[in-house]
Amino acid sequence: MTAISSAGGMPARVVLASGNPGKLREFSALFAPLGMTLVPQGELGVPDAEEPYGTFLENALAKARHASRLTGLPAIADDSGLCVDALGGAPGVYSARYASLQGGEKSDAANNALLVRNLAGQANRRACYVALLVMVRSEQDPRPLVGEGVWWGEILDAPRGGHGFGYDPYFYLPPQGQTAAELDPAEKNRLSHRAQALRQLLEKLRPGAA
Ligand code: IMP
Repeated sequence: MTAISSAGGMPARVVLASGNPGKLREFSALFAPLGMTLVPQGELGVPDAEEPYGTFLENALAKARHASRLTGLPAIADDSGLCVDALGGAPGVYSARYASLQGGEKSDAANNALLVRNLAGQANRRACYVALLVMVRSEQDPRPLVGEGVWWGEILDAPRGGHGFGYDPYFYLPPQGQTAAELDPAEKNRLSHRAQALRQLLEKLRPGAA
């Protein structure tokens, strides 16, 4: 398989199939201690892939395959979003485009405003961030490695905190007594859905792992 080092099964150089600066920052911090070189796909001229599917898993796999096909390198992709219980799991795979799909602008502010509006008067505020992380060693890898993370919280009516991105100022974590945007970024990187998904994926990269 391409570019998998013999030392510990860790890929030496991997394309990150994302152009989202918030995620790039978080993934870089999470991968740095592993000594893996993570190259954002934009640096290699790879355009964003389509995300036409209804599940996080299918979209992540499509993005990873696309990046690997265009670069010949192993690739990692994630697909993530916010699933709100009282909204039947919405915005889900449409989290990034939540407001724009209803005629609004494609921005965090518009998405958050729509979320708060749709939850007005709703007592059940339970929601989770979900992250699916997929690594393919090559485009046609028959056995992609998959990690999944789920991070539960509650949606607030008003924003709190200045870190993070997306829905973070409205995503309250009862155990921490803070929103994801109030958490120290290092703490978010330890607790987040992406961190959980990454830990699962790394477990599968261990030498001797199934
Ligand atoms: P993706 O790029 O298709 O995975 O879209 C993910 C979208 O879900 C982002 O644009 C955000 O709206 C939301 N999202 C995912 N993870 C987070 C997070 O950690 N904080 C805030 N919003 C997130």
